[in-house]
Parts: sequence; structure tokens; C-alpha cells
Amino acid sequence: MPNWEWTRVVTGRTTGELEELEALISNFKMAPEKEDSWNWNWNLCGSGKFSTKSLTKELMAKCFPPNSSNIATLRNNLVPIKVGVFVWRVRWGRIPVLFELYKRGVDLNSVICSLCDYAVETVSHALFSCKLV
Ligand SMILES: [Zn+2]
Repeated sequence: MPNWEWTRVVTGRTTGELEELEALISNFKMAPEKEDSWNWNWNLCGSGKFSTKSLTKELMAKCFPPNSSNIATLRNNLVPIKVGVFVWRVRWGRIPVLFELYKRGVDLNSVICSLCDYAVETVSHALFSCKLV
């Protein structure tokens, strides 16, 4: 196990991610006689060269497998991409409101909405129910 020197205590979801990372690198051994290099070790491109196209394909396959029970995603060409991305971020809780930041381990003084000072700042509150937005 690596000897970490954190400036803050690892909490929340980060703890699980750290354990996953430690498991991934637990059998990794440095080879000081070899020169470091970056390789794109991906099945889609045998060349070893990175391309955003291959990354996008692989990420889409991982996030939305063909036979998964995920909600289908459809692209509507009449809606600007930035609007579609925003809706996707709302749907999956990826808007950086205070409560989402807190869930991800960000150290905050409060998760109460700073505008109305009445309710927890969730995506729903920030977009639909805050009386001052
Ligand atoms: Zn509010």
C-alpha cells in the first residue's frame, strides 16, 4: 500500500475511488532501466496513438452499453449541443451545486442555498424551487 501524504482527510466517494486506485496499482512495479513513455493502450486503435474519436467510442460503449438498462440517449439536432449537455448534466446530477459538491467530498461551510438561505442547494432547488433564482 502506498504511503500517502494527504493535506486533507479523504472522505466520501473519494474513499472508494482511492481504494480502487490502490487496488489497480498494487501490482505495479517501476522499471528504472526503461525510459518513460506514454502509450495509448486501447483495443480500438492498434497504432498506439491517441485519438479523441477512439476515446469517445470507448467512453460511449462503457457509459451506454448496447444491452444496458440505461435510459436511451437521443441527439436532437434542433437543440444546441450546449443545451443537450446541460440537460444531461442535470439528469445525472453533474451540476456543481453545493449539495453535489458536498457529496463529492468538497469541504464546505454549508450546503444551504446562499441566495434564499432557506433550503439545501440541490439541482432541483437551484433550477426549480428557489424563490430568488
Ligand atoms: Zn434558494
